[in-house]
Amino acid sequence: MQQRSNFSPEDLAFDKHNIWHPYTSLTNPLPAYPIAAASGVRLKLADGRELIDGMSSWWTAIHGYNVPDLNRAVKDQLEKMAHVMFGGITHRPAIDLCKKLVEISPEGLEKVFLADSGSVAIEAAMKMAVQYRYTKGQPGRGKFMTISGGYHGDTSGAMSVCDPEGGMHHLFSEFLPKHFFADRPRKRFEESCLEEEFADLEQFFRLHADKCTAFILEPIVQGAGGMWFYAPDYLGKIRDLCDEHDLLLIADEMATGFGRTGKLFASEHAGISPDIMCVGKALTGGYMTQAAALTTQHVAAAICNGEAGVFMHGPTFMGNPLACAVANKNLELLLESNWQERVNAIETQLKQELSPLASTPSVKEVRVLGAIGVVEMEETVNVSDAQKCFVENGVWIRPFGNLIYLMPPYVIKERDLGQLVKAITNYINR
Ligand SMILES: *Cc1c(COP(=O)(O)O)cnc(C)c1O
Repeated sequence: MQQRSNFSPEDLAFDKHNIWHPYTSLTNPLPAYPIAAASGVRLKLADGRELIDGMSSWWTAIHGYNVPDLNRAVKDQLEKMAHVMFGGITHRPAIDLCKKLVEISPEGLEKVFLADSGSVAIEAAMKMAVQYRYTKGQPGRGKFMTISGGYHGDTSGAMSVCDPEGGMHHLFSEFLPKHFFADRPRKRFEESCLEEEFADLEQFFRLHADKCTAFILEPIVQGAGGMWFYAPDYLGKIRDLCDEHDLLLIADEMATGFGRTGKLFASEHAGISPDIMCVGKALTGGYMTQAAALTTQHVAAAICNGEAGVFMHGPTFMGNPLACAVANKNLELLLESNWQERVNAIETQLKQELSPLASTPSVKEVRVLGAIGVVEMEETVNVSDAQKCFVENGVWIRPFGNLIYLMPPYVIKERDLGQLVKAITNYINR
């Protein structure tokens, strides 16, 4: 990793004033750090400093960066074809990927829709549920149920089932459809739900199920909506209630999929299968944008036997061969690796080293599940101050709200993970 890139002050000023980064202002902009290269678990800043990556670029880079096998998969595919439309055409990388996804997914999920991003996979999943209901001849059941504190993406359908406050629904109230939100699960991952919570859920279904086609949620780990790990029996209860009230269950495994929580898919913690499952993020090991929505024979048949006769969705870049090829190699690397041991080791180390922070007055709580470590602060974290401190400590960590969290690549070494924890400790005790 010897590259150095030069960024002129004009480049950086242009970036600051003309380029929107995720959820940023162009009138009161914060500077972004120029990165020249990334390799292993390290991001290399343009000035030559190296940062240990604690974010896996938002859950994606599970094997780290510049991975020789993944590079080769992209290069080999590039020599054959970079892209080709998926309408009326098929190709080896897509067939191999969809076969693999069906093989490793929870039982019953066997029909695959490839999408060009996570949010689009969510849109596709929601449209599947709507078309399914239409065929069944059940008018008035086009709404969704979900839970507060969720995050499902930034397109409008996905956004309408994100947490109303976190998603600022009031800003978009004239635009977003209204859906039904149950309380955020109260009990933690290690706990069991109380009867009272189950009774509340039963009541919620009695009130709203007849207007809804599906229940959508993130299984076990609510990610960008608050990094909350909840009791598996809550998910089991939702599965039961969906069956009882004839609702489809959509599991958004975008963040949790491919081992992050210690199971290949988080639904496995509750031993359930959803009717529709969305995956993305780690699917391509952080190389390309690609996601998928999988469903059952039952749902697919209803969709295709309905008025349209087809599933009404088809993004330009769905099934992009480069993305499928790198996803195939990524899943091969994952499944042939000792990922479970790695995730367990990260969990153990995070539990040991992050937990002492819980006694610091500015810290509200520390929680760890799989390769995810969360320090919830009492107060909102000043992101640019925190980032500056982290960069000075040689790490890349990006907090949001009152949460400082780690979800490192699975390949991270004990020492580097220790360094990430130390940087958080230094920031909190600064
Ligand atoms: C990131 C994410 C999405 C959206 O994926 P994009 O690729 O950003 O569109 C949806 N659901 C969950 C749970 C996510 O973490």
